[in-house]
Amino acid sequence: MDAFAAFEKHINPGLAGLLRFTGLDKVESHAEGVYVWDTEGKRYLDFLGLYGTLSLGHRHPRVVEAVKRQLDRMPMSVRVLVSEPTARLAEKLAEITPGSLSISFFGNSGTEAVEAALKFARILSGKTEFITTQGAYHGKTMGALSVTPKSHYQDPVRPLVPGVKVVPFGDSEAIAKAITPETAAIILEPIQGEGGIRVPMQGYLCEVQAIARKHGVLLIADEIQTGLGRTGKMWAVEWEGVEPDILTSAKALGGGVMPISATVMRPEIGEIYKKEPLIHSTTFGGNPLAAAAALAAIEVTQELNLPERAQEMGRYLMGKLSGLHSAYPEFIEEVRGRGLMVGLEFTDADIGALVVSELASRGVLTAFGLNNPKVVRLEPPLIVEQEHIDACVEALEQSLEATKATLEGVL
Ligand SMILES: *Cc1c(COP(=O)(O)O)cnc(C)c1O
Repeated sequence: MDAFAAFEKHINPGLAGLLRFTGLDKVESHAEGVYVWDTEGKRYLDFLGLYGTLSLGHRHPRVVEAVKRQLDRMPMSVRVLVSEPTARLAEKLAEITPGSLSISFFGNSGTEAVEAALKFARILSGKTEFITTQGAYHGKTMGALSVTPKSHYQDPVRPLVPGVKVVPFGDSEAIAKAITPETAAIILEPIQGEGGIRVPMQGYLCEVQAIARKHGVLLIADEIQTGLGRTGKMWAVEWEGVEPDILTSAKALGGGVMPISATVMRPEIGEIYKKEPLIHSTTFGGNPLAAAAALAAIEVTQELNLPERAQEMGRYLMGKLSGLHSAYPEFIEEVRGRGLMVGLEFTDADIGALVVSELASRGVLTAFGLNNPKVVRLEPPLIVEQEHIDACVEALEQSLEATKATLEGVL
């Protein structure tokens, strides 16, 4: 049985079907920088970047080197001694996150970072309810799913964590109205990723922060996709000078080499740990191997000034996409985003699907927003060069032409 057939039989037949429909019934072989190769030797330009994980591209040499060095010393912590890379990473995160955020909880995935954020918000506030936004994506474990209001994922597994109110994204008034004496926290992505790269009006995040402070409610900024320079700042909340009470990071944090997440919190969490040091814990979270990768990833992000580079390359990409928008208004509804977190909204989800599969056949990887199939996301590595963007846009133009021809054939 080949690997694709094994995946289909033993992992997920439904997803295998979707991949086949998109022409991606292939097996990956190796990767470097912005490129991935399949086992048939075909090369792909990776403009999905594992949903914003591959900010440094595949196998960035500095991250690989740091991981190799740590692998040869001590990949796992015994936990009853302190791990140097893990402690240094927490110190670094305190330095680079906004405001007084200074205590990190480490997990292995984004959804674990959100679980920790929700638990600590309840513990810190002594209250139980959460406010989340329509179109939000915070992960799929039970707590994170409870604040991810998508019925396809929620309904089959109810009952969820109670006390979650859902308000429209971008409407700060709605948040003010939803607050009750039992509200522990508001959880928010500064730019919605899976919801379809939805950028709120300038001022929204500031207003939400003011409302949260006025009512004594905690603000959780979910920067799992937006963080580490993706939007053109180290953290997307910096666009409005907002200082959340809890910030979650994952995806790009491991430098595209290791899985790791962080929930970075206000110093008051320290008082909670003094009472109960093991109130929340995990065996693998922040292990030395992953922490070494994250430290190297942050160093490279700062040294290469990748947030600024994301702004510059984002402007270049958006300029080219605006040209395509004007040329194909019947297909493209809107081009939006910030930095290298870019969404193309199609007039119809089926057209988006055709374009994604046409792009794949031309060797360009992209994907839909999990919560919004009309939007195709472009989240290339922040180390992308103009020539890669030119190649992607050229493939996109050919894909739009091919889609047009297909639809004319059908009609
Ligand atoms: C991807 C994502 C998550 C979940 O992270 P996983 O590592 O897939 O569990 C949570 N929040 C946001 C904003 C994300 O983009």
